[in-house]
Amino acid sequence: MLKQYRAVIHASELLTGEGIRAKSGRHVVEADLGRISDGAIVYSVRMSDGIEVPDQVVWVGATGALPAEYRSIPTRDLEGKRAVIPGLIDCHTHLVFAGNRADEFALRCGGATYEEIALMGGGINSSVRATRAASIEELEALACERLREAWSFGVRALEIKSGYGLSLEAELKVLEVIPRLRKKFPQMTLTATFLGAHAFPPDQSREDYLQDIIERMLPEVARRGLADTCDVFIDAGYYTVEEGRKILTAAKALGLKTKVHADELANTESSTLAAELGCLSADHLLKISDAGIAALAKSETVAVCLPATAFYLKAPHAPARKLLDAGARVALSTDFNPGTSMTLNLPLVLTMGALYLGMSRAELLASVTYTAARALGLEARKGSLVAGMDADFTVLPFSTFEETYYRFGWAPPHD
Ligand SMILES: [Zn+2]
Repeated sequence: MLKQYRAVIHASELLTGEGIRAKSGRHVVEADLGRISDGAIVYSVRMSDGIEVPDQVVWVGATGALPAEYRSIPTRDLEGKRAVIPGLIDCHTHLVFAGNRADEFALRCGGATYEEIALMGGGINSSVRATRAASIEELEALACERLREAWSFGVRALEIKSGYGLSLEAELKVLEVIPRLRKKFPQMTLTATFLGAHAFPPDQSREDYLQDIIERMLPEVARRGLADTCDVFIDAGYYTVEEGRKILTAAKALGLKTKVHADELANTESSTLAAELGCLSADHLLKISDAGIAALAKSETVAVCLPATAFYLKAPHAPARKLLDAGARVALSTDFNPGTSMTLNLPLVLTMGALYLGMSRAELLASVTYTAARALGLEARKGSLVAGMDADFTVLPFSTFEETYYRFGWAPPHD
């Protein structure tokens, strides 16, 4: 069958992110945005489960320079009113869970701390109870609603972590939701991360659960191809650096990529461990030390900052500026989860990045496109609009990229 092409023309601005990619995301500046005024993009399409989805970028440039062979293909005219950017990538979410914790939020607003709520049976364990009790169909339906919302904010690729099962059976059930979602959303890329080491289950000893993760859960997840990455919550009150090292080393031996929830509640030097083990990313980093910053800066490990979580916990933000100036790559993500960041609004996270993390326009674009792709190991295919790469792009409801975070908390049009 002949290849089918589509075009989008007269974008008020089209940001390719080509320079960000050329610099592999370090020390990016305005010129790296690859801004094209009155831009156009030509891409191929493919059919997936009866839905036409963008396939590869074929050509990018000014509308006036559109090659003759693409002038009669089906075209969407943005009339100079809307900007086009690489599809947003949300590289850290806990999308699949049941229940909600609005009641805990009310308690917190009344003065209770996260730790006090956990002692009352709330926190992660409350989501674990609800998730274990839910059927796979119920989990899928909840996740579908959330994915539609993420899509409406311009998100085209999204990472999903397990971690609200905390038993072999329940963790597998959560991960099995993800292939079902891929079938329903062929226009999105969904990566799966096993986070059995999110907390300790209420009904098993620490030693038994650790042994279970390493000897039963990881091998089963890898054998069934249910996740490509393993993550560990290394923090005060959660997993120690040594426990994290054991789990991540076992995951690597099974061919999985690795990530760490690092230095969030306390400094444990888990960012340094992430750099040492060659993890894709170290995430949170509210309490990262100068040594941790230096370790990430000279490693390939992406520093993922989650300012919506710091905002929600009223905690001091991660030192993103110091990380960037030291040469680290910084991605931003929602950390969507029922306890500490119940939002899928990635543009709002950009507002926080601009205001509280001191990030520039170029750093902000990189943080949710190219650098976020790196945090998922997808940078060879995604995060920039360059011929040959995946045609993941977002048509913004605004004429410039910065309006997406200037207009904080905007609601996407439902069409
Ligand atoms: Zn998280």
